[in-house]
Amino acid sequence: SLYDEAIVELTQAQALAIQLNDTHAQIGILSHMVNIQYYMQQFEEALITNQNMAELADQYQDNFFRIFSYSNAMNIYYMLATEVQNQISDLPEDSQLQALEAKQQDYIEQSEKYRTKIFEQAEAVGAFKSYLRALIQLQNQYLREEAMEKAVDSAKRTIAAAERYDSPYEKAVSYNNMAIALRSLERYQDALEAIAKADEIYQQMQHKQSMLWALEDYSIIYELMGDYQKSLEYYKRYHNDSVALMKQTSSEKVLELQKVYETDKNKREIERLNQQNLINASEIKLQRILIFAGAVIALMIVVGMLYFVQRNKAIAEANKKLDRLNRKLKEQALRDPLTKLHNRRFINEIHEKIAATVVRRKSNEVDDKQRIGLVLLDIDHFKQINDNYGHDIGDQVLIKVAAHLQQFLRKGDIAVRWGGEEFLVILFDTNQEGLNLFCERILSLMNTTPIKMGEDSNLVTLSMGHTLFPFVETDPHKLSWDESLKLIDRLLYIAKEQGRNQAVGITIDSQNTNKINLSDKQKQTLLNLETDTDVISLQNDGLLMTTTRA
Ligand code: GH3
Ligand code: MG
Ligand code: MG
Repeated sequence: SLYDEAIVELTQAQALAIQLNDTHAQIGILSHMVNIQYYMQQFEEALITNQNMAELADQYQDNFFRIFSYSNAMNIYYMLATEVQNQISDLPEDSQLQALEAKQQDYIEQSEKYRTKIFEQAEAVGAFKSYLRALIQLQNQYLREEAMEKAVDSAKRTIAAAERYDSPYEKAVSYNNMAIALRSLERYQDALEAIAKADEIYQQMQHKQSMLWALEDYSIIYELMGDYQKSLEYYKRYHNDSVALMKQTSSEKVLELQKVYETDKNKREIERLNQQNLINASEIKLQRILIFAGAVIALMIVVGMLYFVQRNKAIAEANKKLDRLNRKLKEQALRDPLTKLHNRRFINEIHEKIAATVVRRKSNEVDDKQRIGLVLLDIDHFKQINDNYGHDIGDQVLIKVAAHLQQFLRKGDIAVRWGGEEFLVILFDTNQEGLNLFCERILSLMNTTPIKMGEDSNLVTLSMGHTLFPFVETDPHKLSWDESLKLIDRLLYIAKEQGRNQAVGITIDSQNTNKINLSDKQKQTLLNLETDTDVISLQNDGLLMTTTRA
């Protein structure tokens, strides 16, 4: 890695080649120079040297080196683009960012331009190394763009070409790249196979550095697969081997130099390397510490996982509690605090479900007792109770009436505090008979059981409007849920008008069940029922208004 000195030597060689007018030597020297400048990351200089080489190659129609210059240009521009990428990663200002991105795009385009040229010409002149390099470059480009499928395809293509040209290293690198793309595509098994193939070649070639990459890649893939044990295994091997490699390369270099050179300069060099060896030794110590730290971290992960399991349990417990609390809160929000009955909001939330079940059942069952009874109840002259006994007694009466209602409900039926002293009762799986029975029983109970009001006990009566839902059995959508509620509101009003303490219902005359076809006009009549609505005309329409008195 004594690049500077190598450049000095090359410059002298170049002077000599020019003197001797040896163009091929000149081109060869320039190509080495490009390499060294590239390694030194002096990309701008490398570009100029490469350009000189390309011109010479053109001049002497040396196709091989011309293509080689394309290959260099492709790589150099690619590295320039990477450098810009690093600057972009440092989060520059917006104005700079735009310029940087434009610059990067330009470099990438240049790189691609040369790559295309290589593809067009390299195979023809037998510059297969350049051709393979270009193919590998293409893979790198795809990986960079995260076009993983393309990277895989391109790797396959390179592998085939590398086999053709008997170039195991390019083949291995392609398998390696393929593994990287495959693991991004979450095709872990395929990725493992690819890295195994790359590793096999690296081992045959005893390419130590690449063998390390393979180990690292194994570790990453297993980690992504969630196999942390295997991942850690490979990670450890990676570390051990990199430490060993570091030791080996530095002592090999020392030996080599001691054997070959005896000059002062070289002694200095040996000293320098020895010193580096010392540094490496301390680096190795550091590596050991890191590995130890790795083990500690692994242990922490295990402990951490246990902690998480515990914590998850605790969280699950807490969540359950929270769930219970939420349910309770929700339940509270859907109940009336005074009577403990459900409130209007509850019905608003579930009425669609209620309606849907009935509508669905209608189509495949013939049982008569499968409709919903809707009853709207309102306490008669409740204002007077408040006025005579006060609001608190009024509240007590509301509680008592609610309790009476619930007494007659079957499991699943719902009583709702609809408004101030208004209640809605929803009876499931019932028919007209069941609905009438419920109303009769309520009326009867209210008329026989006085409710305590302070010192006194008084009868409290109710008026009701009721109907079945769906209104038209054969056509459930004819009168919607809301329209049905509006209808019973009208019926309740009629019950009040007719003298209170009674239930008014409306049904389809049983003899007309099959022929009723509620027209819009009939519907309007229903939804605007008045006390003096002509009962005869209703009957003509096949509708029957019933009044139940205590
Ligand atoms: P009608 O027979 O026509 O229904 O007469 P009413 O007096 O019952 O009807 P009105 O709607 O005129 O009065 C209802 C009263 O109910 C008015 C209101 O002050 C009272 N009220 C509403 N909510 C409550 C409550 O929560 N507690 C008490 N104590 N009174 C309430
Ligand atoms: Mg009222
Ligand atoms: Mg009232």
